[in-house]
Order: sequence, then C-alpha cells, then structure tokens
Amino acid sequence: MFFIFLIGTRFVTWGSEPSGQQMRCGKCGTVAEFINKKGMRFITFFFIPVIPAGGTQHLLQCPTCGTRYHAR
Ligand SMILES: [Zn+2]
Repeated sequence: MFFIFLIGTRFVTWGSEPSGQQMRCGKCGTVAEFINKKGMRFITFFFIPVIPAGGTQHLLQCPTCGTRYHAR
C-alpha cells in the first residue's frame, strides 16, 4: 500500500517547434499552426520521472487551449 505513494507514472512532454501546418482544433475550434511536441511516459519514484515506459510519442498541441493530439 505504501508503494502506491512512491511509484507512479507521469507523461512528460518537451520541445516546442512550429509544425508548419494549419490544423483545426477539435476542442476550441481554433484554426492555427499547431506546436510540435514530443512526449514519453515515465515511471516516477518519489514523483521524479526515472524510468522511461514506452516509446517517444509525437504530439501536436493547440496554441490556444493546449489540447494535445497524437500526430501520425
Ligand atoms: Zn484548441
């Protein structure tokens, strides 16, 4: 039971490059150039990400509301 408080997972994102393509956000309806980000899930120990879990994911983030979409 104690370990639940020590070990968890967190999705960490980094990078912010212009994607160079106009997209329409499905949440807020903004049509704008989305931001390219990379993300990876980490296993956290004492709330610090230490072990990568799964591969790198490419994300597109809405510049207005911050909603992230998985890029293909
Ligand atoms: Zn949006």
